[in-house]
Amino acid sequence: MTLTFYNTLTRKKELFQPLDANNVRMYVCGPTVYGRAHLGNARSVVVYDVLYRLLMHVYGAEHVTYARNITDVDDKINAAAKERGITIQALTTEVTQWFHEDMTALNVLPASDNKSKGIMIEPKATDHIASMIRIIERLIKNEKAYVAAGHVLFSVKSMPNYGVLSGRVQEDLDSGSRVKVESYKRDPNDFVLWKPTDAEDDASSVFDSPWGKGRPGWHIECSAMSIEYLGQDFDIHGGGSDLMFPHHENEIAQSCGAYPGSKFAHTWVHNGFLTVNGEKMSKSLGNFITVCDLLGKGVKGEVIRYALLSTKYNEPLDWNDKLLEDSKKSLDYFYGLLKKADITNTEGRLAEEHIKSLEDDLNIPRMLGHLHILANGVFSLPDRNAKLNEVAHTVKRFMNLIGLLTMTPNEWFKGMGNDDANVQALINARIDAKKAKNWKEADRIRDELKAQGILLEDRPDGTSDWRRG
Ligand code: AMP
Ligand code: ZN
Repeated sequence: MTLTFYNTLTRKKELFQPLDANNVRMYVCGPTVYGRAHLGNARSVVVYDVLYRLLMHVYGAEHVTYARNITDVDDKINAAAKERGITIQALTTEVTQWFHEDMTALNVLPASDNKSKGIMIEPKATDHIASMIRIIERLIKNEKAYVAAGHVLFSVKSMPNYGVLSGRVQEDLDSGSRVKVESYKRDPNDFVLWKPTDAEDDASSVFDSPWGKGRPGWHIECSAMSIEYLGQDFDIHGGGSDLMFPHHENEIAQSCGAYPGSKFAHTWVHNGFLTVNGEKMSKSLGNFITVCDLLGKGVKGEVIRYALLSTKYNEPLDWNDKLLEDSKKSLDYFYGLLKKADITNTEGRLAEEHIKSLEDDLNIPRMLGHLHILANGVFSLPDRNAKLNEVAHTVKRFMNLIGLLTMTPNEWFKGMGNDDANVQALINARIDAKKAKNWKEADRIRDELKAQGILLEDRPDGTSDWRRG
């Protein structure tokens, strides 16, 4: 197996060589828990869930450690709790639970410390304040950070290679900063590691530190949690491309500043934006759709997951109703294939040519395209039954690998307008119409079925075979 990833740090597609193949380590920035996850948040979670599954497939589940944090201390959280008139803890507990429910509906693997199933850790920022303080102390000692007006600030100028990830050079940063600069900063680009608490802050977001009561900056949270679970050097760091600057740049500066000689993450992977009419889906723009909204409208989690994976992970994905319709049609098609087959005693092939797409910078849409071609091929064979079971088995194994086709066909089609019973009833009505030589009615029924994605193949004896196409 030869995995390749586009590494943002080197700006090229590279052969992935883990630091230790017995413990492949990945960290991904998780949600800030102040409101329902929208589809943009979900894209990031689903993409790295597939990457985690792929790493487990390649290296063995027991040889992969994946950490995706929960940010449960942040200004946005304080503001949302105040607005709702509840405590910060009540808010973050509720929103974390929502996040778990929504992601489970999208077949995202939960936290697990069961080695045989892979190690997925979901650390909460508030449980790691002591580690953050330790790193900040190291930074002060290493003269990378300073205390000013109750804050601890990272000194950007102390790191000559600041900008290594985003390609931003310090001079550009200086001329680009138009916002009012706090007087206590030595340099406008210095960022907060620790900040003092406002008098009115809720006690659950106030922590003791050597610099007084306060709370950590956002960036230091991820440095502390990734180093704690994965070490000072680890393999992959992921997140949305909006996080590349300043968040990830600052994570690198802090981590390498605290532990000189380490490189922090060796491969940086960034997912592209989910957009609406070309604009990033975000809470602040108000153009967001939550996962919960869609599930509540009866859209199946697998349909949403398929839609989120239908475009290459690092390209923009524009969300619209047609994308959802097409995703549902594709899943109907694949479940329809499973329905026709008997895979209980069949060996499918995890054929090289399909897994190659995933190995090649996680090219999921190319793999889905191959599986469509494979299924189309078997449907068009004159004597298809011989091959049908094998192909169905192969399709199921590949789709399972990326967290799709996890239901039985009966579960999938249950309650749908075009479930088997309804289709058969319409086919019977058409047979009756043909017997009565009512060709117009027979054609009308054929068209109605076609509109539902059902294709008929008339047999010489007057009956019809059918499939979802
Ligand atoms: P947040 O809750 O805003 O901190 O975001 C959590 C994760 O979702 C981060 O990895 C973001 O980069 C990602 N994210 C937020 N909005 C989008 C979007 N429209 N498209 C893709 N990823 C996004
Ligand atoms: Zn982060």
